[in-house]
Amino acid sequence: MPHDDSDHPHALLPSDPALRVKALETLLTAKGLVDPAALDAILDTYERKVGPHLGAQAVARAWSDPAFRERLLTDATAAIGELGITGRQGEHVVAVENTPETHNMVVCTLCSCYPWPLLGIPPAWYKSDAYRARAVREPRKVLAEFGVTLPEGQAVRVWDSTAEVRYLVIPMRPEGTEGLDETALAALVSRDSMIGTGVAEAPK
Ligand code: FE
Repeated sequence: MPHDDSDHPHALLPSDPALRVKALETLLTAKGLVDPAALDAILDTYERKVGPHLGAQAVARAWSDPAFRERLLTDATAAIGELGITGRQGEHVVAVENTPETHNMVVCTLCSCYPWPLLGIPPAWYKSDAYRARAVREPRKVLAEFGVTLPEGQAVRVWDSTAEVRYLVIPMRPEGTEGLDETALAALVSRDSMIGTGVAEAPK
């Protein structure tokens, strides 16, 4: 699928991005094209309100509610919408579920497409050239560097995100979590486990 590069300024960032962004914001504000208060509101949203805790909530619900899990796998965008999770870069989400047979891992080989409404702003490593190239070429080695060693019989499936489709990995529910409620379950679901570079933690 094609990537919408106009939506990905970071793909060609200059060496001094912070300075350039500041200059751009100043110019756009002076020309009346952006409202600094609106910009602050967007930054605040992605810094404090939107984050992996939302994705974790969706995963915990899927672990607890088989009907929700089914809806999440069938139409993730609609299912997360039930939890009030919507927004830019989350218009077409596809959920992929880890099983003992298959471990899923997400990358954007061209830039950094990422399910923002579920996971917030992508970590720097997700946008790095090294991760983007190596996740596809040597996923098991990359996983090992994240501290994840999969059983030999478990296949790794790598999903390449695009401007159209963003992926959410549903990690396997850890053993010993039978009695936990959704809040306790969500606490076991890390950001990396939903990208596929981690697994859900066992309860302490
Ligand atoms: Fe991308």
